[in-house]
Amino acid sequence: MKNSIFKMLIALILVIGTVVSLGSCELFDYIDALKPDGGNDVVENDGNGQKQDIVVEGDIQIHFLELGNKYTGDCTYIKAGDKDILIDAGSKVSSISTINEYLSKHVTDKKLEYVIVTHAHEDHYAGFATAETIDSIFDLYECEVIIDFAQITSGKADQKMYKNYIRERDAEIAAGAKHYTAAECVQDKEIDGRFDLGDGITLTVLDSYYYYNAASSENDHSVCTMLSDGKNNYLFTGDLEVKGEEKLVEMNELPKVKLYKAGHHGSKTSSNEVLLSVIQPEIVCVCCCCGSPEYTQTNENQFPTQAFVDRIAVYTDKVYVTTLCVNYQEDEFTSMNGNIIVCATDGEVTVTCSASQTLLKDTEWFAANRKMPSQWKSQ
Ligand SMILES: [Zn+2]
Repeated sequence: MKNSIFKMLIALILVIGTVVSLGSCELFDYIDALKPDGGNDVVENDGNGQKQDIVVEGDIQIHFLELGNKYTGDCTYIKAGDKDILIDAGSKVSSISTINEYLSKHVTDKKLEYVIVTHAHEDHYAGFATAETIDSIFDLYECEVIIDFAQITSGKADQKMYKNYIRERDAEIAAGAKHYTAAECVQDKEIDGRFDLGDGITLTVLDSYYYYNAASSENDHSVCTMLSDGKNNYLFTGDLEVKGEEKLVEMNELPKVKLYKAGHHGSKTSSNEVLLSVIQPEIVCVCCCCGSPEYTQTNENQFPTQAFVDRIAVYTDKVYVTTLCVNYQEDEFTSMNGNIIVCATDGEVTVTCSASQTLLKDTEWFAANRKMPSQWKSQ
């Protein structure tokens, strides 16, 4: 009897010792690791200072991330079945901590099956292009397949950030990642531009004229991808501008799309009728710091631009925007919709935002800064 009480005491001491030595954070990690991967994910809702957990579900989840600063940039995280995909990691090197905090809740195995780097602009690849002393996304996550731009503009190769990108990328390749340029994805006979993600989901690298020809702007070198689940299509064109969009329509049989990530942050140079008339988007997500003077002082050309609004209004009023500029000089910004998560289950698509569900047309910013297109007046 005494012997068994002694054994129980020893066991209790061991359990307490383990809990204490794990520490509270590690213990929570440990508990998280035990949770079944049921396709549900917790997203922290911190809009308006309110911390609240919301749960998103879906065979496909597409997350448009806020980047933790007043600068415009792109970072799209996609969960498709059990595959984790990252398209871009802007806007600044300092965004890495914001992106990592978000990704770490979803990518618990620290492995990204696909990383797509659309083009060599800081607001898209800063998170991959760090100095040696700073951990890039490539350092923080094991990347299985890297797909990046096939062209750069002249002079780019001498720039420090580009050299950083090549060094960080090549280190990941040396560690075992497969690397293809977008052109190689399209031209490789086995890949034929298409990656099968399982569960009927495919990731297609679309063909583009500027994978093979130098453009005057880096934007037109953007890697363009389409995600499809058999029922719906989801289009990502990076910062492709009008010439690139014309060629994209010529070179690919583009279907109608459920979701379109607004090209070039809702710039007046992108989302042209030539593309929109073919894809006829139902949901549009704009990754930008809304109304910021970062690129221009002219109000109507600040993202999302009046020209973009007028063209998109023909097809949909379901337009969402990540972040809002409050006072650029004072570094003040806040969430507009916040992190925008588009989920699809059995073809049913829903949009869940971390801060607000308000459509662009119904926001105070829109009322103060944009003319309401006639199509949106009646809705
Ligand atoms: Zn950009």
